[in-house]
Amino acid sequence: MSLAAVRPSASQTPEQALLEQLIRRESVTPIDAGCQDLIASRLEAIGFTIEHLPFGDVANLWATRGTGAPTLCFAGHTDVVPSGPADQWTSPPFEPTERDGHLFGRGAADMKSGLSSMIVALEAFVAAHPDHRGRLAMLVTSDEEGAARDGIRRVVEHFRERGETIEFCVVGECSSVDAFGDRMMVGRRGSIGATLTVIGRQGHVAYPHLADNPVHRALAAMDELARLRWDEGNAEFPPTSFQITNVRAGTGASNVVPGTAEFDFNLRYSTELDAGTIRKRVVDILDAHRLSYRLDWWLSGEPFLTHPGPLRSAGIEAINAVTGLTPAESTAGGTSDGRFIAQLGTEVVEIGPVNATIHQIDECVRIADLPKLTAVYREIMERLLASPTT
Ligand SMILES: [Zn+2]
Repeated sequence: MSLAAVRPSASQTPEQALLEQLIRRESVTPIDAGCQDLIASRLEAIGFTIEHLPFGDVANLWATRGTGAPTLCFAGHTDVVPSGPADQWTSPPFEPTERDGHLFGRGAADMKSGLSSMIVALEAFVAAHPDHRGRLAMLVTSDEEGAARDGIRRVVEHFRERGETIEFCVVGECSSVDAFGDRMMVGRRGSIGATLTVIGRQGHVAYPHLADNPVHRALAAMDELARLRWDEGNAEFPPTSFQITNVRAGTGASNVVPGTAEFDFNLRYSTELDAGTIRKRVVDILDAHRLSYRLDWWLSGEPFLTHPGPLRSAGIEAINAVTGLTPAESTAGGTSDGRFIAQLGTEVVEIGPVNATIHQIDECVRIADLPKLTAVYREIMERLLASPTT
């Protein structure tokens, strides 16, 4: 299946060479597969101090160079989602392969290209500014795509205990939509979900007065929740959305009133709301409908927003200088590890390649975008940490 594979050539850029090394390491979440050792060895060679912060099965890496403020941190994850059926891939998922100006492989976009460009940009910046201001840092986890419990979430708890400060953080998630640089993430919506179990009494459909149908009881309450205008959003966030994702009830028999009905739902919410307010509104509506129920919540993350400031400006200027584009500044899409880092009071933006194929069969990245991504990261460092004398 390697008919289209191209050997590394003299024209191959350093970020592509490193990206291919990372793709070959089958780091299916939460396995790191040696990616962080490779990253650590590259950073150690340019004067970074390496700290491994394993929690549970998860490998986390914290690398810093220099002292004092500000700290500019580049953050990302080495883990990838499973390839899916390998025989559906045009070329093997863990064998980086060039076709049509793209490099194919699991993690090519999400987000080993971000990691390789960060490292090559750090190498170039340190060579030009060995006495840079403040502190450069890199924060890497192998648990972003999975449970995301022992990854950046745990590292941030640990950092808070020991008083670690990070002023600026660039996350390398795939932020671009159609062309590299057309979008920069400046925040993310919050995500909270629950399983609602409505309790009734099972019985024969022919004798409904002896039963209590939880589906009938729940329908009006769920309808009210689905129709509720949670908020109007604001300048940076769309209105909060509520979606029912799974409904389970019934025994399978057509003559039995079920004893319970379960509803899973999820809200993606703006900075106009918080998890506590959402929980209270849901409970108030369920109680108003006099339901007997259990409610099991899971909070994926509160929303975060980086207000206009030095990092947002540096990100826009860097993208504009490299690509000629002025990126849209967005809070759309799913969650990312930025939500945890922002809890340290850190300004966070996300800049990465086009997201069109992430998590898909035949995931790929445009090869011509790789050196541009490196250049954007380098330009951000130049704006925030360049030594005053050079
Ligand atoms: Zn990712």
